[in-house]
Amino acid sequence: MRALVVEDETALRESLKAQLAGTGFTVDVAQDGQEGLFAGLEYPLDVAVIDLGLPKVSGLEVIRKLRAAGKTYPILILTARDNWQDKVEGLQAGADDYVSKPFHFEELLARLQALLRRAGGWASPQLKCGPVTLDTRAQTVAVDGALVELTTFEYRILEHLMLRAGEVISKAELTERLYDQDFERDSNVIEVLVGRLRRKLDPHDRLKPIETLRGRGYRFSLARQATV
Ligand code: CA
Repeated sequence: MRALVVEDETALRESLKAQLAGTGFTVDVAQDGQEGLFAGLEYPLDVAVIDLGLPKVSGLEVIRKLRAAGKTYPILILTARDNWQDKVEGLQAGADDYVSKPFHFEELLARLQALLRRAGGWASPQLKCGPVTLDTRAQTVAVDGALVELTTFEYRILEHLMLRAGEVISKAELTERLYDQDFERDSNVIEVLVGRLRRKLDPHDRLKPIETLRGRGYRFSLARQATV
């Protein structure tokens, strides 16, 4: 999952970047509204965290412009505690949820994960497709109840495919969401990782959970199941 953090307080911005990266996000950062707007328009994001009080362009203005430009990814705003007007204005501008400062990282993470799940049409943190279960909180994967050991990159690919199970995801999109801008990108790596995922999830080649659509990308094709 690729996240943008727009926050002018350096310490908070850097700590959010490090903590989100530590939980498997690819993170872009911006330190004012102008940079944030550029990143929000140009990068293939899954979610954005935007502080409302920003230099150059306000957080509200950034959100309005992103929504006006047709960007639909979930946006979480950071607001001052007890300032209900900020929260209302932020939500009216197009934000999906908010966290008041100061906050615990775990709360922000839980809200981000909930936004991402809902954007993918999932109600519960456990994504279940056929016999494959992916737990977005524990970051574990099981097939028929037996845990499957995955590397960080393998997990990220599977989470992305399962959050949008049934949709075709291009190789370019997967590559962009796995690596931030400084990282060398190579779509052959995606092919290798998907091949390994298939062998780990489906060693006897009977489930065929991940389809390859020639020239278009991949699709997680096992039927979604409602979870409790
Ligand atoms: Ca600020």
